Amino acid sequence: NTAVMWFRRDLRLSDNPALLDAVSAGDGRVVGVFVLDPLLWKRSGDPRREHLASSLRALSKAMGGRLVIRSGDPITEIPRLADEVGAASVHISADHAPYGLTRDKEVEASLKCPLVATGSPYAIAPGRIFNQQDRPYQVFTPYFRAWLEHGWRQPVKAPEDVRWVKAESEALPEGEVEGAGEDAARRHWQEYLEGVGEYDDVRDRPDLDATSRMSIPLKYGEIHPRTMLADLARKRSDGAESYRRELAWREFCADLLARNPHAAWKPLRSEFEKMAYDEPGDQLAAWQQGRTGFPVVDAGMRQLAAEGFMHNRVRMIVASFLVKDLHVHWKYGARWFMQSLRDGDLASNSLNWQWVAGCGADASPYFRIFNPVGQGLKFDPDGEYVRCWIPELRELTGKTAHEPWKYGGADGYPEPIVDHAEARREALRRYDAIKA
Ligand code: FAD
Repeated sequence: NTAVMWFRRDLRLSDNPALLDAVSAGDGRVVGVFVLDPLLWKRSGDPRREHLASSLRALSKAMGGRLVIRSGDPITEIPRLADEVGAASVHISADHAPYGLTRDKEVEASLKCPLVATGSPYAIAPGRIFNQQDRPYQVFTPYFRAWLEHGWRQPVKAPEDVRWVKAESEALPEGEVEGAGEDAARRHWQEYLEGVGEYDDVRDRPDLDATSRMSIPLKYGEIHPRTMLADLARKRSDGAESYRRELAWREFCADLLARNPHAAWKPLRSEFEKMAYDEPGDQLAAWQQGRTGFPVVDAGMRQLAAEGFMHNRVRMIVASFLVKDLHVHWKYGARWFMQSLRDGDLASNSLNWQWVAGCGADASPYFRIFNPVGQGLKFDPDGEYVRCWIPELRELTGKTAHEPWKYGGADGYPEPIVDHAEARREALRRYDAIKA
């Protein structure tokens, strides 16, 4: 017997129940494959492509160089490989996002052997949790309670008795970033875990840069959230509790998208279909380039361009600014994020954009509009974050960097492109119109 393990969003060997199933179905003989799907490759920006390439390199190394790379449509590539190696079964961890779900059904229909799905990239697979009326949750806190009560399985070890079977392979894609792969993810997580007790106090401060950045290994499945949850359970601190709650947000987003595939690019709450937005133009470009004249917004967008990452608080601020100050539809911002983020993930991205835009589940009320200056002063109180990313502001000391128009000395930095108070009134007028 030989089994095929088709890796997708689970680029690791440990805590991978689908791999254990492949090993047992193939009596230890497994062909491990990753298919470079041109459609997904094209939709990813450079940061995601680079990370994926590095993560595949690390995975292949852990497999003694035996990872098989094929490029093309998985609907033809996977059945072809299964035929070539005479596979008894093909194993996957389930994908619940709209594209993956349809693709897997088509692969299953084209295969001559079974496609076996075991596990998912979540502690609890999307679609599993229901309220007492047997309906999905629309609000996070009761979802979180039910999620905790539901529980999840304990992490499993990497298989020891696997023999990776050779098959014809293309070269690994080019790209090299530091810190990719399962070993690096685990090391980084163990280090972060030491200080997780402080998480609550520091998580909202972009100047401290003290969040875990685990969204990146989670995106590629270099670590499974179950492994992290088991470690957190041993910590018993407020910080560990809050961290667990954030992991549940990731699962809530995936659950919402799996049940509402339209929410990838369309509002979850249908009344927002009627919301009036401006055509994206120069203002969208100024936002993308970090040249809006609002320091915390521009610092975030420049961090995104430089690092392929942005702090969560700043993601909320820049998203609110695009939608409620520039009145541009959130889907343009979401698309830019998907191209620019290393952790770009359809479910977390679209549902968080919708949360900020007011049209998602359990969204912040539309009328609560972030003041970009107030947010900067509150969460970057000494101006360290904005000075780090905006060289034009480096002459401004302390919190004055958040209001360069008041203090001068910010040569080359643009004037604010909108009047926030007026933009806010306009956003509320448009909201009143859909409510009516
Ligand atoms: P930490 O604070 O260390 O959080 C720990 C983990 O909890 C994260 O790694 C992540 O897996 C999860 N998490 C935390 N906050 C959220 C949240 N609000 N929603 C879902 N999961 C969360 N996250 C992505 O992974 N991919 C995206 O494409 C993405 N797009 C976003 C777009 C917008 C407009 C906003 C407001 C948020 C977005 N997020 C996204 C959620 C969040 O900003 C990131 O997960 C977080 O900033 C990652 O940094 P971290 O790992 O250091 O977070």
